[in-house]
Amino acid sequence: MSVHPRYEVVIGLEVHAQLRTESKLFSPAPVTYGAPPNHSVHPICLALPGVLPVLNARAVELAVRTALATHGCVHERSVFARKNYFYPDLPKGYQISQYEDPIATGGWLDVPVEGNGAARVKRVRLTRIHMEEDAGKSIHDAAVVGSEATHVDLNRAGVPLLEIVSEPDLRSPAEAAAYLRTLRSVLRYIEVSDADMERGNFRCDANLSLRPHGNVELGTRTELKNLNSFRFVEAALEAEIARQAALLDDGEAVRQATMAFDPATGRTRVLRLKENADDYRYFPDPDLVPLVLSPDRIEAMRRSLPELAEEKCARFERDYALSSAEARVLTESRALAAFFEAAAAAHGSAKAIANWILRDVLRALRERDVEIEASRLAPEALAALVRLVDEGRTTSKSARELVPELVERGGDPAVLVRERGLEALSDAGALEDAVDAVLAAHAEDVARYRDGETQVLNFLMGQVMRRTQGKADPSAVRSILASRIEREDEA
Ligand code: ADP
Ligand code: MG
Repeated sequence: MSVHPRYEVVIGLEVHAQLRTESKLFSPAPVTYGAPPNHSVHPICLALPGVLPVLNARAVELAVRTALATHGCVHERSVFARKNYFYPDLPKGYQISQYEDPIATGGWLDVPVEGNGAARVKRVRLTRIHMEEDAGKSIHDAAVVGSEATHVDLNRAGVPLLEIVSEPDLRSPAEAAAYLRTLRSVLRYIEVSDADMERGNFRCDANLSLRPHGNVELGTRTELKNLNSFRFVEAALEAEIARQAALLDDGEAVRQATMAFDPATGRTRVLRLKENADDYRYFPDPDLVPLVLSPDRIEAMRRSLPELAEEKCARFERDYALSSAEARVLTESRALAAFFEAAAAAHGSAKAIANWILRDVLRALRERDVEIEASRLAPEALAALVRLVDEGRTTSKSARELVPELVERGGDPAVLVRERGLEALSDAGALEDAVDAVLAAHAEDVARYRDGETQVLNFLMGQVMRRTQGKADPSAVRSILASRIEREDEA
């Protein structure tokens, strides 16, 4: 769906990203994935009596990196607060979070979006970034626990999370998805989080309201909980837009509520009418002193940041003469950018390498659903493959056919070309024979060419390529064809 006819869509996102630390936010228990239930725990995350939380310094550093990379203001003093609620997977009866004094506020993300058919960049403001601990997991699945009982797994309890809250600046489900992709890319660039939705370490709650076009005042919002794939984010928002629009069309009010999306029915339903912050009875955690960061320490963390996607993108445009769209795709991940730079250095022409990556390598990766890190294609091998084409030793068509195999299994392009018999027919004699055979078989077309129908040359080219099973170097064929026809002209 593009623009809604009657209402402006307003979306703000709350993202929970799991920080890439070895231990939990306030306990030395290891952060694991897929460990047997209740094996990555410690008296602190089990909330045994008499324990005291100790803040993980690495988690603080990762939170600061995120704020700096998104142009936020890092506060020299922030406070951990207790967010009180009861749930079986929350043994303390409260979650340690940050509330009135978060570690960072403000900042923005520049998100590539489509508008009126044209690509542009939209600046989405961030409200705040704060640290908090994750809760455990209740397992209701009888197939997993072997009975109707609910079991609790506390491996996840106390795992460090970063909550990143956006201003209500997003105007469509597609923009929301683009924002999430950009945020994920930033978190991966600065090695703060794996930001993998499927593994649950990048989760999103989406707030949505509608208002008549032109209205300044925001409408009443609902919050869609725990959207765990990009597809669901968009689908859930579309469904909720339809639900709210139908209410407003009937003159009814939207009630502030927490909603769940059911992918099976494609519909959203009310989980509970919205709780207020008051319900959580936030107060500063008396077990933890305020977190104080000196300006020097914040500066040191700023200096330790790697080159970010935006900077890299600008540098690629400038130094490699790429379009901004090309540079943006090539800098989507640090690994892809590094692959491109290594291959470009090995080959010599960045433009040629960029074209091969954007056209063939990315398609092969997409089709196999792998990232460049998992591919067996070495940057030097891509450079060597393109060089074989440059030198006329194989055709561009044959080289393209080898890309998926190189991505899957790796190898030396020169060897593969030889083994597969993909060498270009550069032997002048063989090419000339093929051209002559085609000219003899298509005398009428040759006559039309001579009468001025120059586009017939393309048809004749195609015939020669067919005869040589695509192994002929097209530029060589074109020049032999042209010279043959002209020579016969003179005769
Ligand atoms: P809470 O913590 O109770 O969910 P916040 O004030 O932190 O509330 O807001 C959460 C998110 O809701 C933010 O991303 C914000 O941009 C978004 N939001 C606030 N009001 C609206 C609205 N009227 N329509 C859409 N999104 C909204
Ligand atoms: Mg919320």
